[in-house]
Amino acid sequence: MAAISGAVLKSLSTTGEQRICLLRQCSNPISRKLGSVQFKFNVDSQCRSLTSSSSSGVRAQVATLNQTSTEVAQNVEAPVAIVTGASRGIGKATALALGKAGCKVLINYARSSKEAEDVAKEIEAYGGQALTFGGDVSQEADVESMMKAATDAWGTVDILVNNAGITRDGLLMRMKRAQWQDVIDLNLTGVFLCTQAAAKIMMRKKKGRIINITSVVGLSGNAGQANYSAAKAGVIGFTKSVAKEYASRGMNVNAIAPGFIASDMTAKLGEDIEKKLLDAIPLGRYGKPEEVAGLVEFLALNPAAGYITGQVLTIDGGMVM
Ligand code: NAP
Repeated sequence: MAAISGAVLKSLSTTGEQRICLLRQCSNPISRKLGSVQFKFNVDSQCRSLTSSSSSGVRAQVATLNQTSTEVAQNVEAPVAIVTGASRGIGKATALALGKAGCKVLINYARSSKEAEDVAKEIEAYGGQALTFGGDVSQEADVESMMKAATDAWGTVDILVNNAGITRDGLLMRMKRAQWQDVIDLNLTGVFLCTQAAAKIMMRKKKGRIINITSVVGLSGNAGQANYSAAKAGVIGFTKSVAKEYASRGMNVNAIAPGFIASDMTAKLGEDIEKKLLDAIPLGRYGKPEEVAGLVEFLALNPAAGYITGQVLTIDGGMVM
């Protein structure tokens, strides 16, 4: 079941049941007129006020190539970003990076409401806007409610980061049907559901950026991860197909394939496997969630990424080349 939380600004009625939307109230003043002419957004404690004469949207459309992501974010109405699985790990780092760059961020999570709230508070602490949404992105009804939460609060969706993912590892001989299905349902079907729902909004505006978090094992395969590798390889084919379908709608769709990144997902590997993995990484260390987040931020916001679509960018310390 989906749930939305934060400090009260307005109430929402979503599919099936009545929910309370608690759009977070920033400590700094915000004045905005969504979809029309004026937007003031104090991005930090020094209270920079920004105005825009355009409706909300991904700033690549209006920015020049020598602007940084943050400069661009601060010069137009703040883009709306949805990050799935943003309570922990790579998703958390991504939500923080986009929030810091000036986006309004919907933080999706499955169970970790407290962690998600903390991410939202951190975004608010530097003057941003955030909304938390508890829901299972492998469920169509939850995905619909999530999109509705974002559009009811902020009028649109400009950026979607399909990050939520799980592992249920095991050798093929012993893999249970449920292990296979759970991973395919979230890591592949969830990406399909969120992308389809967000694309409906983005295509009307003829702009949008979608970033799918796949994995290097989707390129190379990995013993004990037939389910996960299949889902992540599926995400790569999906990304390229959707990039082709939506290029004429001004939308960029790309995938990022991390190698081994320090997170809860990799913390459970054990010392032996960890040592073997480190031997296989030319740069000799795990990656950091913040490094993946930086790449997401580039693809999501940087004007220079406006000419990149249908690509898979690996970020793996040189492990797969
Ligand atoms: P993580 O630390 O385990 O975090 C997973 C996130 O996904 C959490 O926020 C979790 O929410 C959320 N989630 C789980 N099930 C969900 C569901 N049904 N609906 C919505 N959200 C759900 O994972 P991570 O290591 O940061 O990985 C993030 C992404 O990067 C995944 O797609 C993963 O496959 C990919 N990746 C990771 C690595 C790596 O080395 N870490 C490498 C390659 C690719 P709760 O906190 O509420 O459970």
